[in-house]
Amino acid sequence: MIATITLPGGETVPALGQGSWKMGERRDLRAAEVAALRAGVDAGMTLIDTAEMYGEGAAETLIGEALGDRRDELFLVSKAYPHNAGRDRLPKACEASLRRLGTERIDLYLLHWRGSVPLAETVDAMHALRDAGKIRYWGVSNLDVEDMAELVAAGGDDCASDQILYNLGRRGPEFDLLPWLDARRMITMAYSPVEQGRLVGHPILKQVADTLSATPAQVALAWLLRRKNLIAIPKAGTAAHARENAGAADLHLGDEVLEALDRAFPAPSTPSRLEML
Ligand code: NAP
Repeated sequence: MIATITLPGGETVPALGQGSWKMGERRDLRAAEVAALRAGVDAGMTLIDTAEMYGEGAAETLIGEALGDRRDELFLVSKAYPHNAGRDRLPKACEASLRRLGTERIDLYLLHWRGSVPLAETVDAMHALRDAGKIRYWGVSNLDVEDMAELVAAGGDDCASDQILYNLGRRGPEFDLLPWLDARRMITMAYSPVEQGRLVGHPILKQVADTLSATPAQVALAWLLRRKNLIAIPKAGTAAHARENAGAADLHLGDEVLEALDRAFPAPSTPSRLEML
């Protein structure tokens, strides 16, 4: 059973969703990707993360085609390029994403990373889209504590989420950004939760997974899902991976396992800059 996270309005979304970077770009993989997305939704991973950048719209188009008949079950997250984050361009970027996704509204719309458009202008543009019913919530991605403080000062205290690189091997945000977001009830979305597949081959994760009759990907995801204010969005290109990832929701990590993971992947003791992939 996948745990849920409560949004400011009281509505709940699953703490485990599905990413889509690199999807929709290869004809020979299309059938497997459609099957993966649908299997993920069947397993309860109804939050789908995408971006206009992914395949220059190809991932959004794939999601629209693969899941168009299941729109009512979904919570769709998409992101705008920084160069589209101004008052003139954001509505156009949003319309294009809506068209590709085959929907009338995006549930959560994010600024993909910070560019040269002033944050205050992006906040205003996001509010205008929300008022027009084109999006339901808005947020950001790849913003560190200083940028987040600036965002709030620029009128963005209703930002719903910061989507960041956070996984067992990238624990830097635990030092300052995660507590900052938790204190403001802004949701952390952890991207690249299995480090783009690289964590799956880690010997300690393999060892821990064996003792639990689980897989390394499941251990990496279960470790993230312990946090109360976090949504993890693994990308799976096959239905088997999608189902395996959903299984992480039922995996309990005991104290001994957590200590072993802490030894292999130490928590940060000093601040560090937020990393990006
Ligand atoms: P990821 O989810 O950590 O890893 C995806 C890779 O891991 C794929 O190669 C996948 O292979 C493999 N994998 C997935 N499940 C597996 C399993 N159970 N066993 C073995 N291998 C498995 O990396 P990501 O795609 O970079 O991140 C996830 C999502 O976060 C993205 O898709 C995107 O939506 C979002 N993201 C956002 C940003 C941002 O700047 N905001 C940046 C990066 C990513 P298969 O394809 O073969 O299943």
